[in-house]
Amino acid sequence: MPYRSGRHFLQIPGPTNVPDRVLRAIDRATMDHRGPEFGKIGLEILEGLKAVFQTKQPVVIYPASGTGAWEAALVNTLSPGDRVLMFETGHFASLWHKMATKLGLSVDLVPTDWRRGVDPAAVEAKLREDREHRIKAVCVVHNETSTGVASRIGAIRKAIDAAGHPALYMVDTISSLASIDYRHDEWGVDVTVAGSQKGLMLPPGLSFNCVSEKAGKASRSAKLPRSYWAWDEMLSNNKSGYFPYTPATNLLYGLRESLAMLEEEGLQNVFARHARHAEGTRRAVRAWGLEILCASPEEYSNSLTAVMMPAGHDADALRKIILEAYDMSLGTGLGKLAGKVFRIGHLGDFNDLMLAGTLAGIEMGFALAGVPHRKGGVLAALDHLAESARAAPRKAA
Ligand SMILES: *Cc1c(COP(=O)(O)O)cnc(C)c1O
Repeated sequence: MPYRSGRHFLQIPGPTNVPDRVLRAIDRATMDHRGPEFGKIGLEILEGLKAVFQTKQPVVIYPASGTGAWEAALVNTLSPGDRVLMFETGHFASLWHKMATKLGLSVDLVPTDWRRGVDPAAVEAKLREDREHRIKAVCVVHNETSTGVASRIGAIRKAIDAAGHPALYMVDTISSLASIDYRHDEWGVDVTVAGSQKGLMLPPGLSFNCVSEKAGKASRSAKLPRSYWAWDEMLSNNKSGYFPYTPATNLLYGLRESLAMLEEEGLQNVFARHARHAEGTRRAVRAWGLEILCASPEEYSNSLTAVMMPAGHDADALRKIILEAYDMSLGTGLGKLAGKVFRIGHLGDFNDLMLAGTLAGIEMGFALAGVPHRKGGVLAALDHLAESARAAPRKAA
């Protein structure tokens, strides 16, 4: 590879750009994780995380990618053969389903066309049918990172309540936490699964379970085998800020910094910023004359946009040209969307000029790759940014 000046544009929907402040926080000596100083940091982080999940419940931190936290959610609460209701909204929902099956759960998988989220009415209907309450958990991916579709977690909670069903509610927020409004307590979620490398602006390597009282109770009778993922030892050690095994010390330094940054900006402002950049991106896509994969405007994702390629044009060929010409990485099409879509990540540590640069790279890439499009996508986004600029930065409450 020849030398490339300037910064690489990492516009995949995770891992995201890690801010310099976080990199600097990570770059310090690793300390004794059983020593006196560590417990204070541990307590500060475990408490600080609650604001981001909008919860008063405990949050468990694993030195693992998001997939680990998926497994932890299932093995801590369920028993072999338990029935679980899942929705195939895209690639990540499919992977979670595959894992549940491997763990010996009996999954009722509701298909979708990968262009919309979980239908609350379908949840209600499925649960009403289950008069004997054999379904033990409803699992939903909040923001389907493969499609750019965000399911309505609060509305699904209402559907579960309307059916009067006692199933646990588990939600994957790996690509929505700290980007799209998410309320663990208000929406009555029992286990929230999250990861470090997307909205939290950290490198990969940490993942989370936010655990409701009901989930904690379920864990006491759940029979799936677990050891590394077990909540009980973790939660009892966490009370004093420590961990049962070696935590990812330096990533935790980074997490402390990213939590401080989110607090400084104000969580509501963080959500508004993501919404504004997402809308600018969608206006660009429409101006190019291309189609957004998400078919339901009330479910548009604010952390990424999946763009459908014109027939006969390969998304990965375009991505390769953009990487080589402009040093920008865009998200590939996953699973059955391979070659058909590319994904623009607009989450994490991101601002107006980064969005402008990202969209400019794509528009120039279309021309280089011979992808049919109309010019003016960047301009449409800039117009949106200008129109909405005055509403953008509000003082943190
Ligand atoms: C990224 C992602 C995952 C996978 O997480 P890993 O950290 O790669 O294990 C799962 N679910 C969603 C929604 C994601 O965006």
